[in-house]
Amino acid sequence: MSAPKNTVLIANRGEIALRIIRACRRLGLRSVCAFSEADRGAQYLDLADASICIGPASATKSYLNIPAILAAADIMGADMIHPGYGFLSENADFSEAVAQAGLTLIGPSADVMRRMGDKVAAKTAMIESGVPCVPGPDSVLPDDIAEITRIAQDIGYPVILKAAGGGGGRGMRIVKSNDALADAFMLTKQEAQRFFSNPDIYMEKFLEKPRHVEIQVICDSHGHALWLGDRDCSMQRRHQKMIEEAPAPGIDRDLIAKIGERCAASCREIGYVGAGTFEFLYENGAFFFIEMNTRIQVEHPVTEMVTGLDIVALQIDVARGAQLSITQDDVQTVGHSIECRINAEDPITFAPSPGPIDYMHVPGGPGVRVDTHIATGSSISASYDSMVAKVITHGATRDEALARARSALNEMRIEGVSTNIPLHCQLLDDDGFAKGGVSIHHLEHWLEKRE
Ligand code: ADP
Repeated sequence: MSAPKNTVLIANRGEIALRIIRACRRLGLRSVCAFSEADRGAQYLDLADASICIGPASATKSYLNIPAILAAADIMGADMIHPGYGFLSENADFSEAVAQAGLTLIGPSADVMRRMGDKVAAKTAMIESGVPCVPGPDSVLPDDIAEITRIAQDIGYPVILKAAGGGGGRGMRIVKSNDALADAFMLTKQEAQRFFSNPDIYMEKFLEKPRHVEIQVICDSHGHALWLGDRDCSMQRRHQKMIEEAPAPGIDRDLIAKIGERCAASCREIGYVGAGTFEFLYENGAFFFIEMNTRIQVEHPVTEMVTGLDIVALQIDVARGAQLSITQDDVQTVGHSIECRINAEDPITFAPSPGPIDYMHVPGGPGVRVDTHIATGSSISASYDSMVAKVITHGATRDEALARARSALNEMRIEGVSTNIPLHCQLLDDDGFAKGGVSIHHLEHWLEKRE
């Protein structure tokens, strides 16, 4: 029998790297954090058992550099690699390269990742396993404009053009009439090629006032798949989430359970192993699958707060071949949780605001959790994403979680750079959000009114 795996190389940075370090510590595993030149000297690296430089600031030369990451794993004696979110976390070639190097990726196999990473293939798989999808063909659009026009008319305007290989809210375009279709198609195709090296485009009905509701799953390699509840991530700007919560307010729990069970069943059918998220749009009492994320998500803590589970630890456990030690009955949702993503950016213009943190105070108290890698004396690099902290609160009720979020954000101080904390404070006081159940357009409409 091979020796038990005990060293995790973290191929990521920032708050999620620290989150993974914490999970490793809890499991008694050694953590090695990979870092780029831009992150050299960052305080969170000291919390890992070891760290290793993998290249210059440019992500393509460091956090996306597969040979450098594999070499780092080899040098540091790592037998597992955790990719976090973003960077290589949904890259099937990386999953394959890790397996070929004889290492374990904390994530699904290359085959499953490839299938779910292609949104058209994922939609086909979901239709096959009975998960409801947004109306529209589960196939790539042809190049023939007449044919595309016929498909759009069949679906009925407005429609949305989406890149099959898309992600991060890019490669999508809404089309409202026949006249705009040809140009929109060409532009989206070019964008898809440029951003995702895959020009395939598909089309679906553009839902006008949906909510974004998602289901968290965790699956082991012994055929067990559980769903860990739902999250509402409708507070978005430019398709990027800003505030998330669990559970989704005001939706029939029996309907959620039905969808959750379908997701778990679908995982068993496709042989999914690891943590994952099924994303849906929810409108007029119905769920429509949009995509699956085959990685840990930024917003996983709200699910942890209401279930009491450590999803990152579970993710590592199942990657090591362990059986899930809990059953579906053990998964109980208690109270409510809200997460605010704190970005180093101007709260009005959203321009990134990198630079040194002169002073930082992190809020605390009952039901308050802050996941952050920065502290007084840290420096925020211009090379990466501007998210610097997540303020997560829990309460017996949604109102209590909200009240705790308001007081935590009022208490929080980050000096030296601009942050979106003032914006969050205003949003938490917004009547629509406070009531619960807003659509994915609520935040953008709110911002327009502010201007
Ligand atoms: P990405 O992989 O880039 O995150 P998604 O397919 O998850 O793309 O969509 C991101 C966001 O775009 C959704 O949360 C929603 O706000 C919007 N969106 C996607 N598809 C549709 C649709 N058919 N109708 C309305 N909005 C959509």
